[in-house]
Amino acid sequence: KTHIGVLALQGSVDEHLECLSRLGVRGVPVKRKEEIAAVDGMILPGGESTTIGRLLRDFGLLDPLKDHITNGLPVWGTCAGLILLAKHILGETPYLGVMDITVRRNAYGRQVDSFKTSEIIPAFGQSPMPLVFIRAPYIESVSGGAEVLCELEGHIVAARQRNMLATAFHPELTENIDVYQYFLRMTEEARCQGFIWESTKKTN
Ligand code: GLN
Repeated sequence: KTHIGVLALQGSVDEHLECLSRLGVRGVPVKRKEEIAAVDGMILPGGESTTIGRLLRDFGLLDPLKDHITNGLPVWGTCAGLILLAKHILGETPYLGVMDITVRRNAYGRQVDSFKTSEIIPAFGQSPMPLVFIRAPYIESVSGGAEVLCELEGHIVAARQRNMLATAFHPELTENIDVYQYFLRMTEEARCQGFIWESTKKTN
């Protein structure tokens, strides 16, 4: 059975765990580095990226998590989680720095700092899905192997790079499970590729 870790330092941890349980997937709150090795994928929830980033360091999780992701562990960052993944944060030092995206924090400004809309995102599903933004970042640009999955009024709000998925919005605050299903497929793919990777490693 698939085990999905949810980084449980701060933010919308319970909401993600609840969605996973609705999908019949085992969700595991992750606070210690040993726990990362036991999951098939990791969700980095929304919250406050500066707080989660500081706690990642304090808990000694930053480097282990970075190593696992670099080695292919599927990861999905929502909102603050997206910020944690970015190689570039405008005006700030990156945290995990694993994904080729440049991020603008609190990008929507005061007037519209939180809003809800809906959009068809072909990568995730064929019908419009609700998108909830809460003091959200957006992605200014992607480079390297990162690919845009959704643009909203000229701003990138979802992207994918190999084993990494980033959404500026919060599917865990809606009933829609399309992004969860997409991420679960990523973990299935990684499992197969993981075998290939392990076996090429052994023959080298
Ligand atoms: N504004 C938060 C940050 O910059 C992100 C908000 C969220 O995760 N809902 O970290």
